[in-house]
Amino acid sequence: METTAMNTSIISELNPLLNPLLDFSGLPRFNEIKPAHVGPAITELLATGRAVIAQVAAQTDAPTWSGFFAPLADTHEHLQRAWGQVGHLNAVCNSPELREVYNATLPLVTQYYTELGQHAGLYRQFKALRDSPSFSTLSRAQQKVINNEIRDFKLGGAELSNTDQSRFTAIRERLSSITSRFSDNLLDATNAWTYTTTDPAEVAGLPEDALAAAQATAAADHATPNGWTFTLHAPSYMPVLQYADHRPLRERLYRAHVTRAAEFGDAKLDNTPLIREIVQLRQELATLLGFASYAAYSLEAKMADTPGQVLDFLRDLARRAQPYARQDLAELQAFAHDTLGMTELAAWDYPYISEKLRVARYDFSENAVKQYFPESTVLPGMFQLIHNLYGLTVVATPAPAWHADVRFYSILDRDQRCIGQFYLDLYARSTKRGGAWMDDAITRRRTSQGIQTPVAYLNCNFAPPVGDKPAVFSHDEVITLFHEFGHGLHHLLTQIEELGVSGINGVEWDAVELPSQFMENFCWEWAVVEPMTRHVETGLPLPRALFDKMLAAKNFQSGMQTVRQIEFSLFDLHLHDDFDPNADQTALQLLDRIRREVAVIIPPDYNRFPNNFSHIFAGGYAAGYYSYKWAEVLSADAYSLFEEHGILDQPTGQRFWQEILAVGGSRPALESFIAFRGRPPNSDALLRHNGMTARAA
Ligand SMILES: [Zn+2]
Repeated sequence: METTAMNTSIISELNPLLNPLLDFSGLPRFNEIKPAHVGPAITELLATGRAVIAQVAAQTDAPTWSGFFAPLADTHEHLQRAWGQVGHLNAVCNSPELREVYNATLPLVTQYYTELGQHAGLYRQFKALRDSPSFSTLSRAQQKVINNEIRDFKLGGAELSNTDQSRFTAIRERLSSITSRFSDNLLDATNAWTYTTTDPAEVAGLPEDALAAAQATAAADHATPNGWTFTLHAPSYMPVLQYADHRPLRERLYRAHVTRAAEFGDAKLDNTPLIREIVQLRQELATLLGFASYAAYSLEAKMADTPGQVLDFLRDLARRAQPYARQDLAELQAFAHDTLGMTELAAWDYPYISEKLRVARYDFSENAVKQYFPESTVLPGMFQLIHNLYGLTVVATPAPAWHADVRFYSILDRDQRCIGQFYLDLYARSTKRGGAWMDDAITRRRTSQGIQTPVAYLNCNFAPPVGDKPAVFSHDEVITLFHEFGHGLHHLLTQIEELGVSGINGVEWDAVELPSQFMENFCWEWAVVEPMTRHVETGLPLPRALFDKMLAAKNFQSGMQTVRQIEFSLFDLHLHDDFDPNADQTALQLLDRIRREVAVIIPPDYNRFPNNFSHIFAGGYAAGYYSYKWAEVLSADAYSLFEEHGILDQPTGQRFWQEILAVGGSRPALESFIAFRGRPPNSDALLRHNGMTARAA
């Protein structure tokens, strides 16, 4: 905005040549995008979108794909791409100016999508298109797009009478407010508690970094410069439970942690009444839409069909994992007795004893392993895997980016044609949000100019290189990289030409982790791992004996961990399916009943786990927590075909590409799975990968 005259600057910002956010001719012009471009570009795109909606909704001719849907898809693709670039920069290259325009523009975009989702005229046109003779001439992918749109309108309340619609909207608003209060209460309750000690005997056993952090907290908050202060945040709480020799300290923190936001503390922060209201409102919402339960409503757009199917899946897995969970517990008790002289174990002893047993059994240093995984061999190793599986070549390509550390690559097929491209932003920065994720920059689709090449963002938060030493990755980080690359390949190797079901678009929520978790399996294969390793100093590959130790440690306590996940999943599903929030039974009593059925460790009576289960009460996992295990089963079972035919078998790789990666959301995930695997999924491979078949139970 360096022009002097106000109106010239507005005109120039709307010119695609001068406002890079309005240029859709190729890759995003990341080197040119400025915060000042955001407002004008998004306002322009929203206005265009509204004009297109008004125009296509008012059409009186029978709606067709090209006359009604295509203009809508085009305009929304532009909005998605431009707003996607802004959101991406806000996440990886944050600045006060950008954050300000992002936060100012976000409500405009949200408002637009709300209007779109409730537009009665558009909904009528979608239904008319579905019921028209031309519908049968559309491709399967196109039909799926239209059917998905109609489904989403219905789930958004489009079929309701006016009275029901206003109740529906009121429920959604109330839910949005109380679910966010649930997480605020939990955070406030977590922050409200600290414990300070000046007695060195109480902190015995804690690692140096945990002690230093506790000392820093004490020095900052209290008049106890020589003390240690502990909080209920994971980086403070976890080390105490794992390492503190002082049993009463562990008990003190455990009790405080599992009673957060419950009736024992500040009444204003008690989540108990919110739990009841959330479940009641969700049930009412599902009933309004004609579903038997909220679980049935939640599964409508998922791969799993019915709550009964999910319950059977979970109970079958529980039955098969329980003997191993009991064996894990017996080993822990024997070790506690023989090595530590402990007999009566309590909830606050298990993490402590587990850590001691883990070290005794698989003593190797994470840091020693790390020295074998420099970036300079990990990336070529990962790209070589893609070459072996799919015959694809990954080549570095110049492109404008948002930071000097960002790399850009093209994926070439056997005929050297570029079929997809991706940005790789590996290192942590102060301007980048935490975690690792994949996002779509451009989606494959057919336009009037031909096929649009898909582009993905792969983002991680690994430590950057220091001095002239290359960046080195822990084995967990290598797994993370493979996981995100798996999401990326799902997006990039699609062969679908319709935006709504191309790549990861339109893939059922409980199946979307299949391609990513699938890739993780290769990080446990010697044939893939060995060539990826090269010690930063000696240049030697990872020793086989060290790899075997890593493999053995992988399944430590997998039985106990599995039944714990099943306990949470069963609780979530029953709560949203056959639990009556208006009857006398409480959510806690439901959890107790499930624990008695599947758990091997029963926590103390005062444990209020539901009060801090934000995944289902404040996050997006209501009647969906099962999807963690569900997706693990799918990815392990898909991978087992590679184990049968050879893990680098090209025909199997081609089939995975064609039947899973290429089809995106154009057909149900179950159909894709069966087309690849030749049968429906089962849990055998996951249990075997987790070491729950070979051991005698
Ligand atoms: Zn993922």
